[in-house]
Amino acid sequence: MNKQLSDRINSVTPSATLEMAAKARTLRTEGKDIIGLSLGEPDFNTPDFIKKAAIQAVNDNFNSYTPVDGYVELKDAIITKFKRDNDLVYDKSQVVVSTGAKQALYNVAQVLLNKGDEVILPCPYWVSYSDIVKLADGVPVEVATSIETDFKMTPKQLEAAITPKTKMIWYSSPCNPSGSIYSKEELRSLADVLQKHPHIIVVSDEIYEHINYGVTAHASMANFEDMYDRTVTVNGVAKAFAMTGWRIGYIGAPAYIARACNKLQGQVTSGANCIAQRAVITALTESPDRVQYMVDEFKERRAYILDLLNSIDGFKCNQPEGAFYVFPDVSAYFGKTINGSRINNASDLAMYLLEHANVATVTGDAFGNKNCIRISYAASKKDISNAISRIKSALS
Ligand code: PMP
Ligand code: GLU
Repeated sequence: MNKQLSDRINSVTPSATLEMAAKARTLRTEGKDIIGLSLGEPDFNTPDFIKKAAIQAVNDNFNSYTPVDGYVELKDAIITKFKRDNDLVYDKSQVVVSTGAKQALYNVAQVLLNKGDEVILPCPYWVSYSDIVKLADGVPVEVATSIETDFKMTPKQLEAAITPKTKMIWYSSPCNPSGSIYSKEELRSLADVLQKHPHIIVVSDEIYEHINYGVTAHASMANFEDMYDRTVTVNGVAKAFAMTGWRIGYIGAPAYIARACNKLQGQVTSGANCIAQRAVITALTESPDRVQYMVDEFKERRAYILDLLNSIDGFKCNQPEGAFYVFPDVSAYFGKTINGSRINNASDLAMYLLEHANVATVTGDAFGNKNCIRISYAASKKDISNAISRIKSALS
C-alpha cells in the first residue's frame, strides 16, 4: 500500500472478476493453457446490424461531444425500450446514459449517499456494489442468503436489516452471480416492507433482463405505482447485445436523481462515447428477438454445464434462471487437503483450480458469499467440457 495514495483508493478492493481475468491472461502469456470461466462476458461478436450502425456513425462524422446525459435520439430509444419491454414510462428528464452500467451505479451512489448511510445488499451481490458504495462513504450491509432459498432475500430478512441509517437497497435480477430472478410477487412482498420506510430508495439492476430462460418472467420494481418515485432502474447493453467493450449503460430514475447524475458526469466524463451511443440507438430500437439466438445458446450451455457440475462430488448447484453464471456451493471441500494443498475457503478452492486445473473461476467471497465459487458459462461448449473435466480430475 503506497502512503502517497489516498485512503480512499487504498481502501478499495480490486474487482475480483477483472483481476482473475487479468491473472488468466498473464498465465496464458507465460505459456499456460488456461480456460477462463471467470469473466461475465458473452463469447459472441457484437451483431452485424449494430456494427453497421457504428460504422455509419463514423462516416457521418459523429465525432463531437454529445449531450452529457446522452444523445436525444438515444434517450428516445431508451424511453421506447422501457415502455416496450418493461411497461415503464420515463421522460427525457429521467434518463441518463453513462459509460457502462458500472458508471451508472457509481453515479447513483455518489449523488445519493452521505457518510455513514447504509445500503442493503442481498448476498450474493455483484462484485462491484460493495466498493462502489464504500467509495461514496456509504456502508454496505450484507444480507446473507443461501442455496436453500435460491439465493433470494426474504421480506423478513429485509425488515430485519433496515435501520434509521438505511438509505438504499441494491440488487440485480437476474442476479449476477446466482442467476436467480425475483418474481413480480416476490418483489411486491419486498415492496410491502419498504412501504413502512418511505425514505429508502431501490436500485434495481436489470442488465441481465433479456438473458432469462423462461421460468420466471422479468419484473421491475418501478412497475409498482408506489415504488416508481423511489426506484432507479439500471440497465445496459453489455450482456444481451454482446457489447461489453462499447461501455454504454443507462438509468431511468426520478428526475432529481437523473439531474444529479447528469451534473456529476458533466464534471467527470462529459458523457459516454459518441459512436457507441449511435450504435446503441440501433441496438435498442430493434426487437430483442434479433439477439435471442445468444440467449438460446446460453440456455443450452446452462443445461450442459449443470449436468457436468452435478457429476462432481461436493459441488451443490442451484438452477440459475437467468444470466450466464452457476454459483455452486463448494463448502464440502473446506478443511480438506487435496494434492498437498489445504482448502480452507472458497478463495483457496478457486486458486487451487487455477493452479491445478488451469481453470479460472471467481471466489464467492467477492460476491459476499463464503461458500460458493462463480463459474461463467459464457464460453464455448468445448471450453466448458474441458474445464469441468479438468476440475473433476483435479479434485478427485
Ligand atoms: N451490473 C451487473 C449485475 C453486472 O454483471 C455488470 C457487469 N458488466 C454491470 C452491472 C456493469 O455493466 P457494464 O459492463 O455495462 O458496466
Ligand atoms: N460484470 C462482469 C462480471 O461480473 C464483467 C466484469 C466486471 O465488470 O467486473 O464478470
